[in-house]
Amino acid sequence: MSNDFSSAGPPGAAGNVADHPTVAGLLDAARARGIARLDAEVLLSALSGLGRAQLIAFGERPVDALTSAMVEVGLERLAAGEPLAYITGTKEFWSLPLVVTRDVLIPRPDTELLVERCLALLPDAPQQVADLGTGSGAIALALARERPAWRIVATDASPAALEVAAVNRQRLNLGNVELRAGHWCAALPDSGFDAILSNPPYIAEDDAALAGLGHEPRGALVAGEQGFADLLQIAGSARARLRPGGALLLEHGSTQAPRLREALVAMGFVRVASLRDLAGHERVTEAFSPT
Ligand code: GLN
Repeated sequence: MSNDFSSAGPPGAAGNVADHPTVAGLLDAARARGIARLDAEVLLSALSGLGRAQLIAFGERPVDALTSAMVEVGLERLAAGEPLAYITGTKEFWSLPLVVTRDVLIPRPDTELLVERCLALLPDAPQQVADLGTGSGAIALALARERPAWRIVATDASPAALEVAAVNRQRLNLGNVELRAGHWCAALPDSGFDAILSNPPYIAEDDAALAGLGHEPRGALVAGEQGFADLLQIAGSARARLRPGGALLLEHGSTQAPRLREALVAMGFVRVASLRDLAGHERVTEAFSPT
């Protein structure tokens, strides 16, 4: 993308650039619309190719017409409540830059707990791990980056989501992730997994929080039975896919842990326990297949 940032002269020195908005002007326009400073800086940085520190240092530089038009559109979208990650098309997870589109849930920092726990439970030796409903591929790719010796199967029922995961796998060059289409455990090619992980949809259909998540795919967020339908379906079919002693790790809503633990115990899982996220909410529950 061409831009005027490289022109060294003062504003107005070259042609009609004096008419162009400046970096500072665009940031002011964002503030006037009630857009958080950080979001505006990240957007401008992504579109201009300038780092955030440079935005501050070169606040009085004119921004070329194409870039400023794109920033305008981006600010409109932000003001309308669209998440920044869909506008820039990227989101960082486990320090990996991931491509995201509206076909996938935007990876959340809380989900890093699932990755962290799996890394702590399993040895750094060849293992078979599944990530059910991988979306952008976040969980599977983070594990693959940390553990090149693991074979990781990542599944999704959405072909569009699998395409995004494939782009991310390619960009990050993580060949030890195998992508499979299908519904939860039915998408797995075999059994004997050391661990099965999932961040499935778990929000109840009538949850007020959904109002703020309208830009993300509903199928990745909402589940029947008060948000338990997919959690229970995965748990019910995972036992047969785990090796004896294998681990099931599920992300869930902040109030769902007690009922989920009870269901996992009733299904015959052992050492069932929940882990808290950074906000102190029970966010992940682990359960093991009996040995
Ligand atoms: N944790 C996400 C949220 O509450 C939801 C993710 C999910 O449903 N799996 O925004």
